[in-house]
Amino acid sequence: MYIVLTHDVDSIKRPLRHVLSRWRRFTISDLIRHIFHIDNLYNNFDELISIEDSVGSRSTVFIPVQLFSIDEIKDKLKTMIREGWEIQLHYVYEPIQYEALFKMQKSYLESELDIKVQGVRVHNLIINDSILKMFEKEGIIYDTTYRAEALNTYSPLYIHKKIIELPIAVMDADLFGRLHMSEEKALRYIFKKLENAKEKNEKIFVILFHQEALRMKGGRIYSDLVKMLYERGYELVRCIDIVNRVLKGEIKV
Ligand SMILES: [Zn+2]
Repeated sequence: MYIVLTHDVDSIKRPLRHVLSRWRRFTISDLIRHIFHIDNLYNNFDELISIEDSVGSRSTVFIPVQLFSIDEIKDKLKTMIREGWEIQLHYVYEPIQYEALFKMQKSYLESELDIKVQGVRVHNLIINDSILKMFEKEGIIYDTTYRAEALNTYSPLYIHKKIIELPIAVMDADLFGRLHMSEEKALRYIFKKLENAKEKNEKIFVILFHQEALRMKGGRIYSDLVKMLYERGYELVRCIDIVNRVLKGEIKV
């Protein structure tokens, strides 16, 4: 079974008052560094890179163009692309003229980073048949917006004819925001879910941790999680690695 590492990037900075009102989420030394502008606790691309690099793995990073200016991280993203990270679109859905806005977001990301958008995850995990139908029309190959619980599988499947869906097995916001788990409990929960998936012969297990949360209480277990997965011998891959294996028939769907 492959472990698919993914990240959504919902923000890259926050006003100081936002950070201070959530001070309990951070370590004191990180807070001090943030307050004195030595560091920005919501920009964790370097952490992300070093965590994954330490075990020789790469991930898929979903980047929005509507939530902040891409100019601020464009150089970093280009370096990541050169070094093997996969960058795809974190589509921000708005009901009014959603097709036009999708096309606009897709082509802007493509032209800014000189990439072809093949995969999408929708911000706030908003998804339905008309959105999938539009993805198909716009040449999108895969989506990874549904939770595994919605589709009763962790494995890739064809959804709405030609779109390959990679269901989300675990997301940090569900563990810590919705289910209020401690960090220890979250790790146990993830590995229990993983064992269940393995017993059912599932082919993949998609993990989503938000970029901005990698140094926050909760999200900071990502580093331990990746190490533990690596030590247990799991192969850590990007979405596109799975999609290519599905298209070549190496992974049966
Ligand atoms: Zn998002």
